[in-house]
Amino acid sequence: MSRHTKKHCAQIVLALDCHYMPMVEISRRKALKAMATGRAHALDLKTWSKLGLQDVASQPFHAVVFSKARAVAESKLGFGRGNASILRRDEHRCQYVGCMRRATTVDHVIPRCQGGPSTWANLVACCRECNARKGGRTPEQAGMQLRSAVRSQRALLLERFHVLAGV
Ligand SMILES: [Zn+2]
Repeated sequence: MSRHTKKHCAQIVLALDCHYMPMVEISRRKALKAMATGRAHALDLKTWSKLGLQDVASQPFHAVVFSKARAVAESKLGFGRGNASILRRDEHRCQYVGCMRRATTVDHVIPRCQGGPSTWANLVACCRECNARKGGRTPEQAGMQLRSAVRSQRALLLERFHVLAGV
C-alpha cells in the first residue's frame, strides 16, 4: 500500500449522534462539508472537546458529532449491517483460496479506502486472519485470490429460482 493510500485510509471519520452514539463511517470530505454547513462539529476524542473547522482543516480527526441527529436502531448502524446476509450467502466460508477457516468477518474486495463500495457485489465472507493480512489492499495487491466471482444478488435469486423450479 502506498503512503498516499494509507493516509487516505486514516481519513475515515466516525459520525456520532447527539448522544455520541456512532451512526456510520463517513469520509473526511463529507465530515468537513457537514461542519462547513453547521450541521456537525469535530470531536477531540482525547479531551472530548469540540473542534472547529479551522482546528481540523490541516490535521486528521476521527469523529464528528451531528448534534441534531439521533442514531437509528442498533440493527441499522453503519457497521455490522448486512454482514449477516453476506456471511450467509458465502456459507460462512472464507472466500480466499487456500483458506479453510470459518469466516466471521466481511471483507471489502476493493477496499473502502480505494473507493470500494459497501455493496453486495464488493463484499465477501472472510476469516479474521485473511482480512487482517489483506488490509487496505485489493486481492491482486495482496497476492490473494478469491475462490470464485462474487455472486450477485440476481444470480442468487436465479439460483433460488432454479432450486424451486427443480431445474
Ligand atoms: Zn481466510
